[in-house]
Order: sequence, then C-alpha cells, then structure tokens
Amino acid sequence: MPKANLLDFDLDGLAAFCERLGEKRFRATQLFRWIHQRGASDFGQMTDLAKSLREKLATTACVTPLSVLSQHESADGTIKWLFDVGDGNAVEAVFIPEDDRGTLCVSSQAGCAVGCRFCSTGHQGFSRNLGTGEIVAQLWHAEHFLRAHLKREQRVISNVVMMGMGEPLQNYAALVPALRVMLDDNAYGLSRRRVTVSTSGVVPMIDRLGADCPVALAVSLHAPIDSLRDDLVPLNRKYPIAELIGACKRYLDHAPRDFITFEYCMLDGVNDQPEHARQLVELVRTHGISCKFNLIPFNPFPASGLLRSPAPRVAAFARVLSEAGLVTTVRKTRGDDIDAACGQLAGDVKDRTRAAERMAQRRTIALHPVRQKADPTPTAQEH
Ligand code: SAH
Ligand code: SF4
Repeated sequence: MPKANLLDFDLDGLAAFCERLGEKRFRATQLFRWIHQRGASDFGQMTDLAKSLREKLATTACVTPLSVLSQHESADGTIKWLFDVGDGNAVEAVFIPEDDRGTLCVSSQAGCAVGCRFCSTGHQGFSRNLGTGEIVAQLWHAEHFLRAHLKREQRVISNVVMMGMGEPLQNYAALVPALRVMLDDNAYGLSRRRVTVSTSGVVPMIDRLGADCPVALAVSLHAPIDSLRDDLVPLNRKYPIAELIGACKRYLDHAPRDFITFEYCMLDGVNDQPEHARQLVELVRTHGISCKFNLIPFNPFPASGLLRSPAPRVAAFARVLSEAGLVTTVRKTRGDDIDAACGQLAGDVKDRTRAAERMAQRRTIALHPVRQKADPTPTAQEH
C-alpha cells in the first residue's frame, strides 16, 4: 500500500488515520503540531511520540512537500515559488509582505477551466485539481521557509487568499479540508476573517462553503450587467449576476465578515466607464447587499489583447462608487517585476481543454474593440 501523505489530512482526518493505527486522538494532535507548527517532516524528530508510534508511522505514512522548481524575490519583497505537481504541471504561490501582515496567495488547480478573458491562467486551460496536501504544502513550505529566511520564531503568514491559479470552488472537496488546516489552532491558527476564498461565482458551492467552512469571501464580479459579464467570465452564462448576488446575500448569514468583497479588474475601454460604475451602484442598491469594492488594475499579458485602464480612469471609477457610499479600494500591484501580480500566475499547465483555441475564437467575436497592442510589461502603479 502506498504511504499516506499526512499533508492531505485535516485534524479529523489525521485522527481517523491514527485510530486505524490503534492510536488515540491526542496523538494525532501532537503529530499535527509537529508537522504544521514546527515544519517537521521526519518522524524521527518527533521525540515526544512513543517510539512504537514513530516506527508505525515510518512504514505507513510520509510528510511529502512539493518540490520547488524556482523561487523569485521581487524588489518589493514579494516572493513567488513555482512548485512541481508532476506530469509537467507546475503551480505558483506568492508571498506578499506588508507592514501589518503577511499574505500568501495560494493556487487550487493546475490551470483553470473557467477561462476568463483577462486571466493568463484561464488562457492556459485546465489540467487537474490539486489535492488537499498540494494546497496545504504551499503554505507549509512558504511559512517554514520564511521563518528561517527572516529568522523569525513567530508565525510569518497571517493571511491566506485563495487567489492563485484555479477556481477554488471547482475543487471543493480538496479545498475545505485545506481551509480547516489553515484555521486549526494546532496548525496555522489563522482567523476565519484572514482566510479568503475568491471565486468567479460557482453559486451552489458558495452556499456549501457557507454551511461547511465559512471564511471571508471575495467574488470576482468584473461587470455590472450580464451581457458584459458573460463575455469576460464565461461562468456567468450558467450563474448570472442576480443568482450570484443572491448566493452572496445568503453567505453573509454565515460569514465571519459582514460584507462581501467584489473584485473588479479594470480593463481599458471594456468595463471601466463611469456608466459601469453607476450600474454597479444600482445593482448593489437593488439587491441591498453589504459589500466592498476592490478595483484591480489589469495586469496585461500579450495573448489577452486587453489593456490596463489608465490610472485617472480607475480613480474616477472609484470616486463614483465612493460617493455613492460604497467602500472602494484600488489594489496595489505587487511583484510585477517577477510576474507575480494578480492574473500573471501562469505556472505550467498541460492543458486538456484546448483553451488557446477557444480563447482565439472568442477574441475574434470580442464585443469591445481594442485600440492598441497590449504592453506585456505593466508599469508600476499607484496608490
Ligand atoms: N478563480 C478565482 C481566484 C483566482 S483569480 C477568481 O477568479 O476569483 C484571483 C483574482 O485575480 C480574481 O479576482 C481575478 O479576476 C483576478 N485577475 C485575473 N487575471 C487578472 C489580470 N490579468 N489582472 C488583474 N487581475 C486579474
Ligand atoms: Fe479561473 Fe479565476 Fe482566472 Fe477566471 S480569473 S480563469 S476563474 S483563475
């Protein structure tokens, strides 16, 4: 029988595994702490576990992290890792240090099947879901690397955002145990308010997440009306805006925060006009949803054929929302010198979905003309 990788288990899963070895739950808790709090992967190190248990573990289990293909550090302190997930696929995670927090952006899939127009992961197509252990291993590696690198005894990563490669709610079964590891006080002990799932709007899974493991929710809205959102986020054809907002409202009954964050990627001449901002205000008022807006300046990549909205247009858009009483922030672009900014994560994906072909076809039927050729090197931004 292959050995079980203990990074695949939340505490209940590990307790069940230990029970099969004839061990009590408190042993699972000890083991869990060794792995996640101390970064141990060798059972021989775990000196407060009985020798007999260490021997049983050595024959039945392993703690196997992901191997790191590369690590890049940006001038602004952002660090990006490329992890090998086998069969020619690789995924990325990004650490973003700030004065009062350290955020890790984590991937959930090798590629993504949603295929948003403005996202380089979407353009790469989809290979496979990551397992729980592969999601957790990104945090395990980053946290323990950073503690050693920064010579810190205490936790370095205070926030996790599921905003790397992939649509987390299309990998629900692996996501939820991974979130539980992040939240568990015997592991990373992150607050529910500081773990964010970002979704393009998988309505039924938003409801399930609210029931199973409520954490902060970010919804990638990107357009105020269905005709435009259908084009930018193809999943909208299945779950249109009104249904999505309905799910967001239901989610708020469980959420650790009393608002939903709407992400809105600012695309030059596509979704960035004052009229779009007014439509957003109208949308939010009609549905009476408690929310904040996070405007993301588009990070261009050549195949998208799209451009970043100029900074004054972003500011004008933000002003319309703010003046209507909606809390609005503009996301700082971090790590763009190492291609680690939002939407630039592109790992390596052995596409099974012929995404490039589909994207090329969609570009020819684009609703909105693109005025100039996209600049692949985004300029440093703002705010
Ligand atoms: N699949 C999830 C989470 C990963 S994408 C989702 O779509 O929400 C994380 C965020 O980056 C999303 O808000 C997404 O819309 C945004 N994004 C994708 N491509 C981008 C780009 N090229 N520039 C700026 N933001 C981008
Ligand atoms: Fe997938 Fe999110 Fe990229 Fe859309 S924006 S293609 S849902 S990763």
